Amino acid sequence: QKQILLKKRPKETPTHNDFEVVETSIGTPSDGEILVKTIYISVDPYLRGRMNDTKSYIPPFKLNEVISSGVIGQVIESKSNRFDKNDIVLGSLGWQEYNIIKEDSVRKINTNIAPESTYLSVLGMTGLTAYFGLLDIGKPKEGETVVVSGAAGAVGSIVGQIAKIKGCRVVGIAGSEDKVNLLLNDFGFDAAINYNTQDVGVALEEACPDGIDVYFENVGGTISDAIFPLLNNFARIPVCGAISAYNTAEDIGPRVQTHLIKTSSLMQGFTVGNYSSRFEEGIQELATWLKDGRLKYEETITVGFDKTIDAFLDLFKGANIGKSLVKVAEI
Ligand code: NDP
Repeated sequence: QKQILLKKRPKETPTHNDFEVVETSIGTPSDGEILVKTIYISVDPYLRGRMNDTKSYIPPFKLNEVISSGVIGQVIESKSNRFDKNDIVLGSLGWQEYNIIKEDSVRKINTNIAPESTYLSVLGMTGLTAYFGLLDIGKPKEGETVVVSGAAGAVGSIVGQIAKIKGCRVVGIAGSEDKVNLLLNDFGFDAAINYNTQDVGVALEEACPDGIDVYFENVGGTISDAIFPLLNNFARIPVCGAISAYNTAEDIGPRVQTHLIKTSSLMQGFTVGNYSSRFEEGIQELATWLKDGRLKYEETITVGFDKTIDAFLDLFKGANIGKSLVKVAEI
């Protein structure tokens, strides 16, 4: 089987040279272990941070070790009482075609509720990030204006729709005309801005006549600079990510304080892991909205294990709409 190792720590934008694809044997499970065939691999921007040798909320990947992320797999062989052959499982597993793992490193998923891929998208880590970040930190109220950047991505597209469910005016910022059209026509945003062709500050002023009450931050940099002058008093800013800074050595720096002081706004960083004890609640509510047709989702599915690195690199080029996944095998 093939597996993908981190060969070098990328300095700026990662390339294929930072990874190595190697062949290894699959092995056989011991007592308490299962052999899992990889079905879907989740590629995520946060993995870029784990490629740096810096202290964070999650340890860095080690050089010459297998990269890992969210994986949906199928149990092929079980030496555990907790799993049967053919069970569909979710866990943080290696970027390889098969994983031998301890029984407590994955959990079974219920594919009667929704297709298995959704446990890596709208019902998975990114959907839960949107749900808890927006509702717990953003606290959107009916009639307020919510702006989200990275709006057509996995987290952003769900943030905007939840804000609509809560009765807000929703404005999305994304990087292409196709994404803007998707936000307006499919996801029900009230306004959408293409940061590659429009002056974000001017467009935001037009799209937010009553100012901004919640800014869900996914990108950082110059896009978020344009947000701050429009903050209303007591605005809330869930700081989810800053993808525009992930491939630069330079720190984006503190240039927002004055606006925060003037408006008594709250800006709070978070990781979805802070809410792990409430994941079941999030999944239930997201699944209900999904079933009722109030929440839609997009997935960009790249087919083939050999395309995993490309799918990861594409995140930084904006090639994906909704959640980016790699389909490695059929169930
Ligand atoms: P997305 O599906 O949004 O994919 C990344 C998108 O980011 C691209 O499609 C692209 O869209 C946009 N992008 C890429 N480079 C830039 C840039 N330089 N400037 C502006 N936009 C850019 O990924 P996710 O939804 O998984 O993640 C979104 C954010 O949320 C990331 O910052 C991520 O790190 C963060 N995150 C945080 C979590 C937490 O627990 N705090 C958990 C999960 C994600 P476009 O075409 O619009 O540029």
